[in-house]
Amino acid sequence: MVELKTIFLKRGKEDSLNRNHPWIFSGAIHHSDCDLLEGDKVRVLNSEGKFIAIGHWQIGSIAVRVLTFNNEDIDSEFYEKRLATALDVRKSIGLLREGDACGINKNSTYRLVHGEGDYLPGLVIDVYEDTAVMQAHSVGMHVDRILIAQSLKKVMGDNLKAIYYKSETTLPFKADLNQENGFLVGHSHNDIAIENGLKFHIDWLKGQKTGFFVDQRDNRSLLEQYSKGRNVLNMFCYTGGFSVYSMRGGANLVHSVDSSAKAVELVNKNIELNFPGDKRHQAFAADAFKFLDEMTTKYDLVVLDPPAFAKHRDALKQALRGYTKLNAKAMEKMPSGSILFTFSCSQAVNKDQFRTAIFSAAMQAGRNIRILHQLHQPADHPINIYHPEGEYLKGLVVYVE
Ligand code: SAH
Repeated sequence: MVELKTIFLKRGKEDSLNRNHPWIFSGAIHHSDCDLLEGDKVRVLNSEGKFIAIGHWQIGSIAVRVLTFNNEDIDSEFYEKRLATALDVRKSIGLLREGDACGINKNSTYRLVHGEGDYLPGLVIDVYEDTAVMQAHSVGMHVDRILIAQSLKKVMGDNLKAIYYKSETTLPFKADLNQENGFLVGHSHNDIAIENGLKFHIDWLKGQKTGFFVDQRDNRSLLEQYSKGRNVLNMFCYTGGFSVYSMRGGANLVHSVDSSAKAVELVNKNIELNFPGDKRHQAFAADAFKFLDEMTTKYDLVVLDPPAFAKHRDALKQALRGYTKLNAKAMEKMPSGSILFTFSCSQAVNKDQFRTAIFSAAMQAGRNIRILHQLHQPADHPINIYHPEGEYLKGLVVYVE
């Protein structure tokens, strides 16, 4: 076995690790046997010298992200095993589909690795057709990036032509890695991916996250079912995922709104790709609150999918007020019989808190609402049962009277 630097825990600090929680906080560490460098793989022992785990060490309150609770090498075999399991899960969910002869219902867009949910903390991999976009959220995963890319290529074989590494904005700023985005394997010019038979331009070079919000796939499908004959407002539209689905669902008109002009360009491109020349769609570059204040169209199907209002626990109260205000503004103007799809992707806001924020919005707007669906992240964003922090996306579909 490869020799690793060793960390010793304080007495009694291994309880959460015995319950398979994959994080070790800095306060739990007694000492290390030599100087540590951010991104090092470390062997973790308890105060009596018993083996507990192996993980990536990093500077910050989460000091170690556990890769394994077994005493094993973290090598290509390790990563291949984890990646092959992740791929099997996506295959068994039915996310890799060719569709029929015309490509109807084809799907080639999915999250292959969702950090702790796939026992690879700090790593995200989204697959778009034959390109994988890989993102490191920890220095340890950054250090291992080549090993991971090679393992991924081996596991996916010819189905994968290129791996793009996109960690410029996700690595800890202080680590000072001067990381640049770029291809680690191959090169790809095809920027179109297919989700449930719909086409999307994916801007993995410059787009937000890995280029697309894969996590709303199931919720977009549900919206499609409610779209027939409705006037749809897709607020915070980004690439226009919800808009494209509602067009296919037979919406009467679809208006997409985002404060970013680049997003408006993207949504227009994606509508054109699927419904060329269709006049039912229009996109607006505007601030959400201002648009809701000034709008005169009666929208009876509204999507509110804002960016995370609470990036940290400290911002929780203010974030909840933000969700309430936003939803109240939308509800005030929705005609009776409307349907609202409302989301929060803030990890710091839990399901009950979000529901309370929507309760307050209904009170403020003076509307009766009923919950039709309670939504969450899809199956390719699995939640490790020992790591409840992995649950982040929540949504409600409400009927507004
Ligand atoms: N619903 C999208 C993802 C939304 S991401 C999807 O399914 O892909 C959040 C989006 O909100 C970003 O595109 C961002 O540009 C936009 N945004 C952030 N603040 C905004 C504001 N005040 N008004 C309107 N859009 C905003």
